[in-house]
Amino acid sequence: METTQIPDFRMDGTRISGILISNDPENGEIRSLARRFIEETIDGGRERTTTSIKDLRAFPLTIWFLKALNINVLTTRVINRTRDILEAELRSTRTGSEDILSYAGAMGINCELSLDEERYLIPVTQFITFSSRISGPRYRLVNQAVSNGKVLCSRELASKIIRESFVRKAFEAYSSITREDAVNNTGPAKEILDDLMKMIEERGITRDVQLGTVDYAIFPPCIKEYISQMKDGVNLPHMARFTLVSFLHKVGMNSDEIIALFRTAPDFKEKLTTYQVNHVTGQTSSTEYSPPKCTVLQSNHLCYRGEDTICNSKWLKHPLQYYTFKKNKPLRKAPFNNLEKR
Ligand code: SF4
Repeated sequence: METTQIPDFRMDGTRISGILISNDPENGEIRSLARRFIEETIDGGRERTTTSIKDLRAFPLTIWFLKALNINVLTTRVINRTRDILEAELRSTRTGSEDILSYAGAMGINCELSLDEERYLIPVTQFITFSSRISGPRYRLVNQAVSNGKVLCSRELASKIIRESFVRKAFEAYSSITREDAVNNTGPAKEILDDLMKMIEERGITRDVQLGTVDYAIFPPCIKEYISQMKDGVNLPHMARFTLVSFLHKVGMNSDEIIALFRTAPDFKEKLTTYQVNHVTGQTSSTEYSPPKCTVLQSNHLCYRGEDTICNSKWLKHPLQYYTFKKNKPLRKAPFNNLEKR
């Protein structure tokens, strides 16, 4: 494997325009790959042809196309697919440890191989930064062996840290392009972009999150943050999803409305989401779940109370308590703690 296959994140607009008008067969292939990357992401059920690390050479052009299309959720889905291709390559037996170190270096991770060549050593600060984006307690620092300020990572774990650094760089590259530049420099690809936009509209991928009749203004900060992240195309951790679904159900949204909301999530899968929502809301299970308490969300780094006065009150124990208190505020002088029975 050659590290030249690492995506060139920041390609300037002049080079992008050059690729789009070039007659060179390689540039033609890059145009085709970028288009397919996006098409296959929009159409989740379609057979994927862009699966190889070599296909990532189309990544810079793909990023410019995505900026011109300007649909956050689609951007995140494409970056996540690219991330998964990179991770599969890193974990593949055909990828040697030297290649992993090269990839880590290209992603800005100071990774070294342990003396017995069994582990990858990653500085604690970098580990914390990137592991926080990986779901699951086994990826937390408290569950790792640490020596001399370095975390001893398995290949699997090192691959995940490297891939998360890739994701950050990819989003930085995306954010560094202005929409105006993207539209101007992808002008020669107008036909491709029009076709992609048509597909996006046909598949119902939208820019906006629909909340129906529920009163968003009095949601607690954590719930607002989850919705905002979803709107920005971020994949929510499992507990945030569970909290969001159970909260929205408790405040009066029906399952169809909740599923429609999740349609904007980057990793949306209709069948799985329907199953999960119906399970949490008690339609297909014997339990109608409540969101976790604030202390649970806090210990999972999913509390966003900031300076919010109600969240910082001693009596607040639960996100639903926040909503009900605000809803009844004109009538209610004292807080209540009766949520487990709801
Ligand atoms: S204190 Fe509770 S309600 Fe407020 S943001 Fe944190 S978890 Fe949500």
